Amino acid sequence: DYEVALPRLGNDEIGELGESINKLSKDLKTMKRDRAEFLGSISHELRTPLTYVQGYTNVALRENIDEKDRQEYLRIIQEETSTIVALVENLFELAKLDENTFTILKEHVELCPLLRKIHTKMAPAFNSEGISLDVECHEDLTLYADPIRLEQILLNLLDNARKYSKAGSATRLHVTAEAHSLVFTIADEGIGIPQSELPHIFERLYRVEKSRSRELGGTGLGLSIVKMLVEAHGGDISITSSEGVGTTVMLTMPNEEDRE
Ligand code: ADP
Repeated sequence: DYEVALPRLGNDEIGELGESINKLSKDLKTMKRDRAEFLGSISHELRTPLTYVQGYTNVALRENIDEKDRQEYLRIIQEETSTIVALVENLFELAKLDENTFTILKEHVELCPLLRKIHTKMAPAFNSEGISLDVECHEDLTLYADPIRLEQILLNLLDNARKYSKAGSATRLHVTAEAHSLVFTIADEGIGIPQSELPHIFERLYRVEKSRSRELGGTGLGLSIVKMLVEAHGGDISITSSEGVGTTVMLTMPNEEDRE
């Protein structure tokens, strides 16, 4: 523990410098604690599926078991492996975002073709669960953004809408143009998020219902990645929700070339 705490050195610049050092030292300590906590959580998140893989591999390898049971064990192993892969991929993505070793390559993106592509990609998963997906694009809108990142953001948010919705409900994505930005709204009629949980959902590995999210292949990292990508564009994301009624995500993306 190396937190420095300088005594108040006076009311001049030196005093202020001392205060700054104290604050920096405190921040550093918090960062270290957060990092240790995050590492602990990751280890736990990885250990759970790995324990399943290990256990079911052992039983699947037994000689005198029913072929049907073996198939079932292999299916579980396959599913748990996908969870591990998703977790590792998301962690890798977060590490790149943290280190700033990723690039945002902005260009003028024609929105309607992009939204059509997104609809084509997502519709089968929505349909197979009996959820309707409505993606609207009327005008010839363009957005100055990184098309790959924009697609990643929207796919992630739509995937959440699907995961936390039930058959018979609808998810709607629409875009409105403001003076200097575009506002994307993704509204679902799903299970919603309790008010008390809302302030936390952008935190890494945070999930309202761990078991439900796990079953759905969630990692609890999706929204933190989305938020970082949105902020890297100079945009803003906010979520409102009502339990049992649905969730609405508002994404505001600035639509101007950077004036550096
Ligand atoms: P996950 O991989 O678990 O979906 P996210 O970071 O994307 O992780 O989301 C964090 C948590 O926020 C989820 O586990 C879920 O509890 C909640 N959540 C996110 N989007 C929605 C939504 N559209 N409806 C209800 N709950 C949601």
